[in-house]
Formats: sequence, C-alpha cells, structure tokens
Amino acid sequence: MLKGRNAVVTGSTSGIGLAIARELAANGANVVINGFGDADAIEKERVNLELEFDVKAYYINADLMQAQATRDLIEQSVKALGSIDILVNNAGIQHTDLIEDFPVDRWDAIIALNLSAVFHGTAAALPYMKKQGWGRIINIASAHGLVASATKSAYVAAKHGVVGLTKVTALENAGNGVTCNAICPGWVRTPLVEKQIEALAQKSGIDTDAAAKELLFEKQPSLQFVTPKQLGGAAVFLASEAADQMTGTTLSLDGGWTAR
Ligand code: NAD
Repeated sequence: MLKGRNAVVTGSTSGIGLAIARELAANGANVVINGFGDADAIEKERVNLELEFDVKAYYINADLMQAQATRDLIEQSVKALGSIDILVNNAGIQHTDLIEDFPVDRWDAIIALNLSAVFHGTAAALPYMKKQGWGRIINIASAHGLVASATKSAYVAAKHGVVGLTKVTALENAGNGVTCNAICPGWVRTPLVEKQIEALAQKSGIDTDAAAKELLFEKQPSLQFVTPKQLGGAAVFLASEAADQMTGTTLSLDGGWTAR
C-alpha cells in the first residue's frame, strides 16, 4: 500500500514508534527510525526492518528536545531517503506530580519533546511535502489530548497542544495534498506506562498485574490495553489513499476511555 513512500518516525527505538515504523515498512515504506537506546539493539531492529520487509531503513540519532536537532533530523532523513512523504511525530515522555510539586525541568522537558518537537519536525518537513504535493503528518497525541487526568499537567497541556497544532497544520495545507491528523491512544503497555504501573504497585502495595488492572479499570472501559501494532495499523490507514480527505482530526484508539 505504501510502496516507494519514505517515512520518518520519531522516538521509534521502542514501544509505539517502533511498532508504527514496522507497520509502515510492512506496507512497503522506507523508514528512518530515531530515539535512544542500546546501539546494538537499535542496529538489530534496523537490519530486521530491511530483511523482513525488503525496504530501506536508516537510524538517525537526534535529541528532539533540541529544536535544531529536530529540524536537522528531517534534513538528514531527506538526504538518506531522497524525500519525506510521511512524518510520524511520536517521541514522548511522561512525569507525574501535583502542579505545585511539578519540577520545572520536567515541565520544560515534556513541553520541549511532546509539543515543541512536533512543531519543529512539522515546520522542517512541510516545505518538502508541499513542493511534491503529497504528504502525511501523523501526530501521536493521546487520550490526554482530549481529556485530563490529575498529576499530568505538562503531559496533558502538551498533548492538548498537539491536537491544536494538528488542526492548524491541516488548515494551512487543506487541498494541497498534505494532511495532518492525530492518533489518540489510551493505555498501551510500553516502557512509558510500565513505569506508571510499577509506581502504582509500589504505592498501593500490590503486584504489577493488579496495578495494570487498576489503571485500566480507572480509565479504559474495554479493560484491555491497546497494542502498539494496532496503532501502527491506524498510522498505515492515515497514510493510505482512503484517508485523503481526512485532515485536522483525531483518531481515538482508547478502549472507550473518551466515550464517557
Ligand atoms: P516509549 O518510552 O516506549 O518510547 C518513547 C520513544 O521516544 C523511545 O524510542 C525513546 O528513545 C524516544 N525518546 C525519548 N526521549 C527522546 C528524545 N529526547 N529525542 C528523541 N527520542 C526520544 O513510549 P511510548 O509509550 O511508545 O510513547 C510513544 C508516544 O505515544 C509518546 O508521544 C506518548 O506520549 C504517546 N502515548 C503513549 C501511550 C501509552 O499508553 N504508552 C498512550 C498515549 C500516547
């Protein structure tokens, strides 16, 4: 479905980003992966992408908390791939605390990575996409881009910001072949959520299985985690022709979280 398309997925050495990169590659797209982690493990993932899916895969290391590094990632990706057709702004982090206790450096880091990097990546990719008359920008927001939870001020503010930025990007490019949409996942059991499960287990004196069930019970009516692969499927759909007229919208995969 995406044969010959060139995609960049930020924060794709782990969790949701890696699964999205894999689904895009499974559908024929060449990919740039990015993110932190063990160099050997990342190289193994990169080689697996090429061997399993017969596409080109590159790893570009960039700290997306830095504005220029984020813009450089796009430029380096275009050099490696030849063009950029699909940009998935996925990299993100979390920190939980009451507002009055929230460390300023955590606030700044979450806004820099979860929101400003989406702006910088989009700004760098748009000129290429507009010139070729085709592009897909897919922002990984969250159920927390639509509703709030206590102790997540920076994350909720950033993700609501991403949903707003998605709408502006869509409006500025309506009709020129470039679409921009946000995917809003509920709970997905990745390293980002595993930390929250462990914190809850410790606080409540329960095991991690019980803590995972409690997280789901509080927010996600299906009582089942969304899988990274399902989010990859949603990204493939948004990159497909079927989604040509879908722009400026949010796609919730949240087990019913935001339905109530
Ligand atoms: P994760 O921790 O498994 O992966 C995060 C990725 O971002 C990793 O590849 C990591 O190396 C990379 N990264 C971290 N800091 C970076 C930096 N400064 N520069 C470049 N890359 C960096 O997390 P995840 O759960 O897969 O989250 C991915 C996205 O999905 C995030 O934006 C997150 O907010 C969003 N999300 C996650 C959930 C969930 O339940 N896990 C739910 C809704 C939305």
